[in-house]
Amino acid sequence: MSKTFLIDVTRCTACRGCQVACKEWQGFAANKTTQIGWGSHQNPPDLNPKNFKIVRFQEHKIGDTVTWNFMSDQCRHCLQPPCKDMADGYMQGAVVFDEATGAVVYTDKAKQLPKEAFDEMKSACPYDIPRRDDATGIINKCDMCYERVAAGLIPMCAKACPTSAITFGDREKMLEEAKKRLAVVKKDYPEAQLIDAEEVRVIYLITDKPEFYHKNLVAQGPAGISRMAALAKMTAPLKRSVRNLLG
Ligand code: SF4
Ligand code: SF4
Repeated sequence: MSKTFLIDVTRCTACRGCQVACKEWQGFAANKTTQIGWGSHQNPPDLNPKNFKIVRFQEHKIGDTVTWNFMSDQCRHCLQPPCKDMADGYMQGAVVFDEATGAVVYTDKAKQLPKEAFDEMKSACPYDIPRRDDATGIINKCDMCYERVAAGLIPMCAKACPTSAITFGDREKMLEEAKKRLAVVKKDYPEAQLIDAEEVRVIYLITDKPEFYHKNLVAQGPAGISRMAALAKMTAPLKRSVRNLLG
């Protein structure tokens, strides 16, 4: 049965337990990084091949009110992932659906994809998620901890979250839970909304404008595909034909 996350920002304290737990589970080494400042404790500054999860921080001042917005960012495991469409054009099996969970998984084959395939995958992703390690050629992102889920466990980030801001379960149940929670939150925050719930397996419940959390919190462009992605999609077959002709 396919799975889904609900990430409820009203419960997030930005402790970054999810971020650290993800690194631990994946066995990733620490990044060399520095404090980036500007009213933010976001660190490292962005997703990278050793951070499948990052807690994004933004500070906003409207009149006399200051808000601090947190968002635990990761791959949304799109129901129709544009990154997979792009990868399939180069090599079948580099990006697959995990049947048990619906997770979008980058396999070992993704390592054989050329840099330009990665560029197309990244520009196609409506949430700007895929990252590539230039030293090894490995293209990666969150895999929904699908091996843990297959073993009857929940993803490491959901397990580590001390406030239940990140919850995980069967899709139908989580969609129902998301709607129930939204109804509760709306009493205090009338602008609260669920983000792209019908398109993705990671649903955010937010209370402020989406851009207050991150520019890519909402899919860029209609139908979950950005203008850049649409353009890349149109030109990809042409680029491949030219490549084949040139040998
Ligand atoms: S969020 Fe981006 S990387 Fe994740 S499945 Fe969707 S298109 Fe692919
Ligand atoms: S599901 Fe697993 S891989 Fe994905 S962000 Fe959470 S801990 Fe990391």
